[in-house]
Amino acid sequence: LVRLRQRLAGSQGALGRGLLALLSRDRLDEDTWESIEDTLLTADVGVAPTQQLVENLRTRLRVEGGQVDDVRAVVREELLALVNPDLDRRLQISGEDGAPGVVLVVGVNGAGKTTTVGKIARILVAENRSVVLGAADTFRAAAAEQLATWGGRVGVDVVRGDEGADPASVAFRAVEAGARSGVDTVIVDTAGRLQNKQGLMDELGKVKRVIEKQAPVTEVLLVLDATTGQNGMTQARVFGEAVDVSGIVLTKLDGSAKGGIVVQVQRELGVPVKLVGLGEGADDLAPFDAGAFVDALLG
Ligand code: GDP
Repeated sequence: LVRLRQRLAGSQGALGRGLLALLSRDRLDEDTWESIEDTLLTADVGVAPTQQLVENLRTRLRVEGGQVDDVRAVVREELLALVNPDLDRRLQISGEDGAPGVVLVVGVNGAGKTTTVGKIARILVAENRSVVLGAADTFRAAAAEQLATWGGRVGVDVVRGDEGADPASVAFRAVEAGARSGVDTVIVDTAGRLQNKQGLMDELGKVKRVIEKQAPVTEVLLVLDATTGQNGMTQARVFGEAVDVSGIVLTKLDGSAKGGIVVQVQRELGVPVKLVGLGEGADDLAPFDAGAFVDALLG
């Protein structure tokens, strides 16, 4: 959490600082409220949530003939409500009846899927869980290689196929290997070709069906690059329609001043942000904590 705060302080903190500066003006006139809206929209909070937040703030900060004592506390409460602290953000990493938990990781190329798979494996191994990785991104030659490197670093087996092999068959073999050796969790990295919704649905649907001949998929994580803003939101929608996403991983939050995307993507997909990527290193993945996130925003 300390790291989250430090990483966000430089970039995300700008949103909170900007808001607080505007809200602390003596007179909250229409121009000021417009600037507040702009600040929120620029940070990717999204149109509907921005309008709701501004309306709530207008109501709560309108005090006859005076100022609300603790503007920061009001803003904190309202931001926290938007991020929704009550969502269950635990990863479903355990299977039932002796089967491994299966985590399917999806998202477009470059979003940080492979890196995230490696980082999750590292966290699970540190918790003494046994893990097998499946390199079902068979379209990018470097992807399996990259995952194998992570496997070596973390000390877990990686099941891979030849370049161009059927992703579903690699996923099948990974879950098969995991089940045979009785591991706790199999994490499957998938290909992230930007294609149409139908193609994506067919491909991810097949991967999921084939896996589920052996064990239920317990978690489908959508990896989203926080720096891509509205493009990222469009991708999120396509993936959300193609497959039953159960959690979101927001990567590169260390390099983005646009933390508002958390609000937008949760609302759009109806699933929680479960993890955040805060850098390229092996330890730079953290569970998403709504309170810590809002505190980091407010600097
Ligand atoms: P994939 O194509 O979705 O598998 O993406 P990769 O895992 O190959 O990541 C693409 C690039 O993003 C790599 O250079 C990663 O090191 C980088 N990356 C991944 N996650 C993060 C993050 O949280 N922060 C930063 N700064 N870079 C990241």
